Amino acid sequence: MQGEASHTGTPSAFIRLHGCSVGCPWCDTPYTWRDQVETADFQALVEASKEAAVVASASVEMLCDWVAAQNVQHVVITGGEPLEQDLLPLVEALPFVVQVETSGTVAARPELARAVDWWTVSPKVGMPGGLAVQPEMLRLASEIKMPVSRDSDIETLKALLLDARPGTPVWLQPLSLSKRATRLCVDAAGLNGWRVSLQTHKMAGMR
Ligand code: SF4
Repeated sequence: MQGEASHTGTPSAFIRLHGCSVGCPWCDTPYTWRDQVETADFQALVEASKEAAVVASASVEMLCDWVAAQNVQHVVITGGEPLEQDLLPLVEALPFVVQVETSGTVAARPELARAVDWWTVSPKVGMPGGLAVQPEMLRLASEIKMPVSRDSDIETLKALLLDARPGTPVWLQPLSLSKRATRLCVDAAGLNGWRVSLQTHKMAGMR
C-alpha cells in the first residue's frame, strides 16, 4: 500500500531500485546504496520474500511479470535514487499507472518525463553526496514531498518552491514520525496551505 502523500491508501506494487549517491544520514533504506548489498537470484528473492540487504538483478520482462501477479493497478518505482538507472524501458513496458519517487537530484530526459504518470519529488538538500536538486525536476513534479525535521527545512522548501509550478501539491513528511517534527509539519502546513504525510503504511505494519 502506498502510505505517503497524494496516493495514500492505493494498493501498489513497489519496485525499489538499487543505488543512490545522495547519502542522507537518516536514510531508512541504506541497503539500497551501492557496495552495501549482496546479490541474489530474482526469482529466489521473490519466492523467499526476503527483505532488506538483498538485491537481485531483474530484466524489464521479469519485473512486468512480477507486477502483473500483484493484482494492483498502481506501480511505484522508488529506491535508492531510481533516476540513477535508465527507467524508460521499464516505464514504457508497465501497463499500469506508474509513479516515480525521486530526490530530484537527477534530471529526467524528456521521453521519461512524459512517460511517467505521477512524479513525486522528495527534495534532499545539503546531503553528503553534494548533489543539488534540479530545478526542472521541481517544475516536473506532480507533487513535492519534503522530509522535515527542523525549522530550516521549511525555509529550504520555500526556496525550492520558487522553481515549482504554482499549485503543485506540497506534502510535509515528519522524519521518523517524531512528535516534534510532526507538530512542526502541522503548523507549517496550516500556515502555507500544504498537507502532512504520515507514512500510513508503517502504522499499518507494512514496510
Ligand atoms: S535519497 Fe532516498 S534512498 Fe537516497 S540516501 Fe536519501 S533517503 Fe536514502
